[in-house]
Amino acid sequence: MNRTPKHHPTESTLLRFAAGRLPASHALVVAAHLEGCPACRAGVRAAEIVGGALLAEMPAAVMAEDALTRALARLDEPASKPAPPPPARDLAPGVPLPAALRDLAVPRWRWMAPGIHRIALDIPGAAPGERAYLLRVAPGTELPEHGHEGEEITCILSGSFSDTTGTYGPGDVAEMDEEGDHRPVADAGVPCICLIATQGRLRMRGLLARLIQPLVGV
Ligand SMILES: [Zn+2]
Repeated sequence: MNRTPKHHPTESTLLRFAAGRLPASHALVVAAHLEGCPACRAGVRAAEIVGGALLAEMPAAVMAEDALTRALARLDEPASKPAPPPPARDLAPGVPLPAALRDLAVPRWRWMAPGIHRIALDIPGAAPGERAYLLRVAPGTELPEHGHEGEEITCILSGSFSDTTGTYGPGDVAEMDEEGDHRPVADAGVPCICLIATQGRLRMRGLLARLIQPLVGV
């Protein structure tokens, strides 16, 4: 992901990530985005510093007079970035596994539907109903229209897809809540590879999609 992302997690999602309040699977998707997004890394770091400064002052009712000044001064310091470990393997030619996934068992791609392959991920600490998976969608392939019982967050690792909310390329994040339905289409060019976390089941539209849903386990 050498491109600067155009679509970022919401502020609420970044704050929940910084506070350790995101579901484990969703946090993994945000971590994959942060690998390619200096702006969101800085945002998360700022939230962690402010949160840490507030915690450091507890349980005293009055904060040190210079607490805010010190916290703000630290925001200007360059972020220390540990060197990433060498890539374990590629998901496709030129598409390395995100560092966020390197400690996980990542099985092989499995056929899910014409033009669609999937790798289900077993996330430590995931709550019941949480799912995380990698999806590889052939160029031009349309996913069945679906809604969500809970939040869905996607980070694009390669290629791009479009839906009514826009076009998403490498590094971009798309968030959907239970209100929205969408029908993403992989754009022309290279396959679209995404890391996706969902809560609850997908609500499939259309008879065929509903028939295959139990078979593919989404
Ligand atoms: Zn970002």
